Amino acid sequence: MRLAAYPDDVDPGGATAHDGRDLAPRPLTNLGAARVLILNASYEPLHVCSVKRAITLLMHDLAERVQDGDRVLRSPSSVVAVPSVIRLRRYVRRPHRQRVAFNRKNVFRRDDHTCQYCGVRSHDLTLDHVHPRSRGGPTSWENVVACCRRCNATKRDRTPKEAAMVLRRRPAAPAFLFSSVYGVLPDADPAWEAYLPRGR
Ligand SMILES: [Zn+2]
Repeated sequence: MRLAAYPDDVDPGGATAHDGRDLAPRPLTNLGAARVLILNASYEPLHVCSVKRAITLLMHDLAERVQDGDRVLRSPSSVVAVPSVIRLRRYVRRPHRQRVAFNRKNVFRRDDHTCQYCGVRSHDLTLDHVHPRSRGGPTSWENVVACCRRCNATKRDRTPKEAAMVLRRRPAAPAFLFSSVYGVLPDADPAWEAYLPRGR
């Protein structure tokens, strides 16, 4: 496969625009930290992996480049554009275990650290059982939301209707594995936006 995304006659380290702006692609130094979005053959987002893993998939021709980022990897003999989005050549079924784990942290992520009643964004939120746990409400994606302490104290052991409080959206299990869908992955690549589900 063709690894180098830049033609041989371009010196990736020295390119300079007419206005003097430095065009040199930024070298990537941390292979483990960067992330690449993997799409299924159907273009459905599947997974996020390290650059190292993505390059391996590309080298084995198991995936193709969809979009490159502005980073490069250098070796003594080549310069390789760091992929931002790749697509598997073969369709893979999504295993069930890829469901997002239900836990406190992921509920906060799903709800974007925002109280689902009043909309305040905070890192001091608690969890609210929409249908109160004391009255049989399950602890599940569908019945637990992020809630500020003030709203939690107001709602007490009541349903939203009884407390005259309105949920900002109906809680549900995230359809997508990655919290980047909810805008909380700090290093989520803007290039992924076109491939992530709408109507989060
Ligand atoms: Zn609130």
